[in-house]
Amino acid sequence: MSHVMNTYARLPVAFERGEGAWVWDTQGKRYLDALAGIAVCGLGHAHPRLTRVLQKQVGKLIHTSNIYEIALQEELGDRLAAISGMETVFFCNSGCEANEAAIKLARLYGHKNGIESPAIIVMEKAFHGRTIATLTATGSRKAQAGFEPLLAGFVRVPFDDLEAVQRVATNNRNVVAVLVELIQGEGGINVCSNDYLTGLRAICDENKWLLMLDEVQSGTGRTGTWFAFQHSGVKPDVVTLAKGLGNGVPIGTCMAAGVAATLFTPGKHGSTFGGNPLACAAGLETLAIIEDDGLMRNAVEIGTFLREGLRERLAGLTGVKDVRGAGLMIGIELGAPCGELVARALEAGLLINVTADTVVRLLPPLIYTRADAQLVIDTLVPLITEFLEREPASARASQAA
Ligand code: PLP
Repeated sequence: MSHVMNTYARLPVAFERGEGAWVWDTQGKRYLDALAGIAVCGLGHAHPRLTRVLQKQVGKLIHTSNIYEIALQEELGDRLAAISGMETVFFCNSGCEANEAAIKLARLYGHKNGIESPAIIVMEKAFHGRTIATLTATGSRKAQAGFEPLLAGFVRVPFDDLEAVQRVATNNRNVVAVLVELIQGEGGINVCSNDYLTGLRAICDENKWLLMLDEVQSGTGRTGTWFAFQHSGVKPDVVTLAKGLGNGVPIGTCMAAGVAATLFTPGKHGSTFGGNPLACAAGLETLAIIEDDGLMRNAVEIGTFLREGLRERLAGLTGVKDVRGAGLMIGIELGAPCGELVARALEAGLLINVTADTVVRLLPPLIYTRADAQLVIDTLVPLITEFLEREPASARASQAA
C-alpha cells in the first residue's frame, strides 16, 4: 500500500528524465510533452542555461529567511514590476498562495474603506486553488464538496458577463474587488470576449473596486505576452502568477499597483519559503531565457499553427464543438466526456490533459518547434476521430447497462 495520501487519480507511468519537449519513462519509452507539467515547464525539461544557474545557486545558497534581506528577491521584484507594470510584489510558492495574498489584499482594502464584511466577485467555472479561501473562490461544486463550511465574502457571477457584474454593483455594497482568470484554464480554456476586461475595469473604477487577475496559468509568456491582460491596454490593480515562473522550481507572486501596492505592512502576511534565493534565481533566469530566445513570439506562432492545424484536420467531425485558446493555451471541446483520451495519448507517446470533462487541454512548452506541433496534430487527430466514432456506441452501451 502506498503511504502517499490518495489525492490524485494517477496515470500508471513515472518519468525519469527529460530533455526539451521530451520526457522518458522508467521503461525508457519517450513521450512528447504537450502539457509542460500543467503550464509549468515553459522552457521544457533540463534546459541547459537554467540548469547551470540552478546548480550554481544550490552550491551557493538555497534558503535564508524573509527576516533577512534577499538580494535576488529584490532583483526579481524589479524585473516583475518592469514586465507587468505593477509596483510591488509578494513572493510565495504556488498559485493558491498567490491568490490567498490577493484575497487578503482585497479584504484589507475593504476594511481600510470602512467595509466590515468585504466581498469579492468571482466567476462560475473559475479555478483559483485548493486552500479553503481559494477553493471558495473556485467555481466548481465538485472541488468544493465535502469541505463546507466554505468562507463568507464571495459573490459568484457567470464568466464573461458584464451585466451580471453590474447587477452586483447595484445591489451589493460590500463588494471590494473582482477576481478573474481572463482565460479560464481548469474551467475548459474559456476565453473572455475582447471588451470584457475593459468593461470590468470601468465597473471597478466606478465602484472603487480592485481588479484582480489570476494569471497563474496564463502568465509567464504563455499567450504571447508576459501576461494575458497585456493583449489589451487595461491595467489591473492586482495580478497573481505562479506555475511557469520557476520552470518547475516552486514560486508564486502576488503583484499590486496603486492603492493595492502598499496595503501589506510588516506582520500582515508572510511565507517561510516564499522568494528564497533558489526560487528567485529560477524566476530570474526563466524570464531571461523567455526574453532572449523570443519564446513569446514562438508561443504565438506555434500556437496559431497548432490551432489552425487542429481546426483544419478536425473540421466537419461530428462531436468536435470548438478549438480555442490563445498562444500555447489551447482547448479542443468535444461533445462528450473524453477523459479516456489522456490514457490513449499516453499509449501513443503524447502527454495531454482533459479538463472540464469534455475539453482536451494542450499547454506545451514555449520552446515547441513546428515539427513538435505537427506531431501533436498527427497523433491527436486520429485519437479524437477514433474516440468520436466509438462514442455514440459506447454511450448507448452505458445507457443499456
Ligand atoms: N489559479 C489558476 C488559474 C490555476 O490554474 C491554478 C492551478 O491550476 C491555481 C490558481 C492554483 O495553483 P497551485 O496549484 O500552484 O496552488
